[in-house]
Amino acid sequence: MTTVGILGGGQLARMLALSGAPLGLRFLVLDSTIDACAGQFVPMVVGDYRDETVLAEFAGRVDVATFDFENVPAESAQWLAERVPVFPNPRALAVAQDRLAEKSLFRKLGIPVPAFADIATRESLDRAVAELGLPCILKTRRLGYDGKGQFRIKTSADADAAWDALGAQATTVGLILEAFVPFQREISVVAVRGRDGEFRAWPLTENWHVDGILSASLAPATLPPALAEKAIAHARSIAEALDYVGVFALELFLKDGELLANEMAPRVHNSGHWTIEGAETSQFQNHLRAVLGLPLGDTRMLGHACMLNWIGSVPSANPVLANASGHWHDYGKSSRAGRKVGHATLRAEDAGELALALESVGRSLGRESQVAPVIERLRA
Ligand code: AMP
Repeated sequence: MTTVGILGGGQLARMLALSGAPLGLRFLVLDSTIDACAGQFVPMVVGDYRDETVLAEFAGRVDVATFDFENVPAESAQWLAERVPVFPNPRALAVAQDRLAEKSLFRKLGIPVPAFADIATRESLDRAVAELGLPCILKTRRLGYDGKGQFRIKTSADADAAWDALGAQATTVGLILEAFVPFQREISVVAVRGRDGEFRAWPLTENWHVDGILSASLAPATLPPALAEKAIAHARSIAEALDYVGVFALELFLKDGELLANEMAPRVHNSGHWTIEGAETSQFQNHLRAVLGLPLGDTRMLGHACMLNWIGSVPSANPVLANASGHWHDYGKSSRAGRKVGHATLRAEDAGELALALESVGRSLGRESQVAPVIERLRA
């Protein structure tokens, strides 16, 4: 009997456990909060990721460890890796946790990125704003997610407000300034690399964000094949450079026919949730297969799929369930503004059919604005 340990007990851990059950796997989750939603049906250790007593108990009860949460302290991941196999490896995790380190790696690999600069002081912010031009975005290097820890600088007068908001973090998590990219689309590559180096990617996904949080994902993204191949080649070169094992996502901006890499997530990713029902093998199942050294499953998709995120609260399931290819995911979390509490996936044989299903579900749920950009893309 193999037990997979997961650091972090949110919805990603929950969906990993669900997809691992048919493989006969057991799971153990480590989370700092007792009500982490994976804990509703996965045994759990509750404690601080930095506490060695907690980590030791966790390590003693698992055969292999992985992450649902990318901000596990790198030292904790390293401590654990000295006791049990940990995938992805702590170095890959450390690079992906740091916007400056990951963008530097992308650049080294020849992957285009938005112009960026390391910001250590108020003076270096002024210098970088002058060099990168306006608008630009000040971001924390580490611990930011879903648009948190970011400040948009539209005019030079905004630099003061940006420093007031984030300057104190220059000496803790670090800061990076990025040129603002007036992109036409946001695309992600969700890919997996096995212990033996085998690499597979799912068809590309197009994503729409609202207030910095993913709102909808559509697969396959309609991109010229040469561009899609380039995106997948970028993902592959990153995975190889980091000796990465498991699933990860590479987020890209598409601007005037060029792809610019924004960031990578060293874990299963929200933009890959559609793979549960929309692909031959889901990102969750393939992550577990990779981590365990099992053969990877086919990443081919079945038709077209759209995932809609439920943020804050879960709407009525009925309109989705009434759709022949509607699939429902409630993470069992309490409602809270800005919190990811569930998602739905709609699948169809062709783009026209998917647009009709989205129209009907959007209308029934009063979510017309959420589905509108996806429908527009499907009908373009
Ligand atoms: P991130 O946390 O870096 O993924 O940023 C969250 C969202 O903010 C992205 O999905 C984009 O919609 C937007 N964003 C982040 N960085 C940039 C940028 N350099 N230029 C334009 N938009 C950005």
